[in-house]
Amino acid sequence: MIIWDFNVIVAIGITLSLGVVIVCWVIYTLSGGRTEPLSNREFFRQCGFCSYLYFDYFKKIPGHCPRCGSFQE
Ligand SMILES: [Zn+2]
Repeated sequence: MIIWDFNVIVAIGITLSLGVVIVCWVIYTLSGGRTEPLSNREFFRQCGFCSYLYFDYFKKIPGHCPRCGSFQE
């Protein structure tokens, strides 16, 4: 018979918490680890005149540089 005192309950709680963290870490590692840091790379544009990097989510042609105001193809 297990005697349920406070120390046993705390030890079981810490063990279960660490177990959940370790299982999540293993699943994350086995599933490929990191995700794509720039998932919206297709919207990434660079101005041809001032080299400013910006996101163009609307993909309007001609594009419009937010820094220098020049039009981009
Ligand atoms: Zn520009």
